[in-house]
Amino acid sequence: MQEKAEVKELIVISGKGGTGKTSVLGAFASLAENKVLCDADVDAADLYLILEPDIKERQDFQEGHKAVIDKDKCTECGICRELCRFHAISPEYEVDPIDCEGCGVCVYFCPADAIEFPLKTCGELFISDTRCGPMVHARLGIAEDNSGKLVTLTRQKAREQAKNKGLNLILTDGPPGLACPVIASITGADGVLIVTEPTLSGHHDMDRVVELARHFEIPASVCINKYDLNRNMTETIEAYARDEGLPIAGRIPFDPSFTAAMVQKQTIVEYDTSCSAAQAVRGIWEKLDSSL
Ligand code: SF4
Ligand code: SF4
Repeated sequence: MQEKAEVKELIVISGKGGTGKTSVLGAFASLAENKVLCDADVDAADLYLILEPDIKERQDFQEGHKAVIDKDKCTECGICRELCRFHAISPEYEVDPIDCEGCGVCVYFCPADAIEFPLKTCGELFISDTRCGPMVHARLGIAEDNSGKLVTLTRQKAREQAKNKGLNLILTDGPPGLACPVIASITGADGVLIVTEPTLSGHHDMDRVVELARHFEIPASVCINKYDLNRNMTETIEAYARDEGLPIAGRIPFDPSFTAAMVQKQTIVEYDTSCSAAQAVRGIWEKLDSSL
């Protein structure tokens, strides 16, 4: 029996927002074949702005519990208010869903059994079709802080889609920064592309993402977006990458076509395949594709 091809996952991340990470991933979406797209930037998903997904399935993301007081059963004894160390219960015995941490203490001690403790819906997950292939994406609810778990779920669903559809690549748009969602987005990946820009803060943030990738033993490479805005800093970052043994996937010039493409809801490759940025991204993709 012929063995099925292994599913590989490439994550595009950046130490901070605004480096053009999603535009780069969007361009890869136009260039790669046999792939599932995964938007794991669940706090600020924006790949859908370019790819205009046609949602085929949606499911609630439920995580943790919230207390809800049944006024008909409540005797207003005050025990729950005294015990809630998050001050989530008002003098009128209403639970503030933002302040409630779902610890369950009030539920346990309520003598009237008046507090319900339902699962909390924290966001939504979507499986969609796009012109560049299937896409899994999600939206975290306002003021929710379980993004790491939603990132993991989004990646799991993308892997399921790849397996079910016989696709061998997952292209994941990771969250910016360094916190729990980024860790959730890179663990177990086959490769990480770090998109940075030639500024001091870009260098600093990239340095920390490199440490993270190294800690989780994920092969990382670097690309510098808008490299020509500060060529000295580009060279400094590339020298740093060489010292750290990181492959340099390429440089992308500053190109207003990126913004123009986004306004037209297109990837840069779709918008103008001959512009300098599209050509640079194509070169980067070819390198990455052959190294995965
Ligand atoms: S502990 Fe129960 S009965 Fe007492 S005030 Fe709270 S909800 Fe009402
Ligand atoms: S579940 Fe915990 S945090 Fe929420 S209202 Fe009850 S005691 Fe307060």
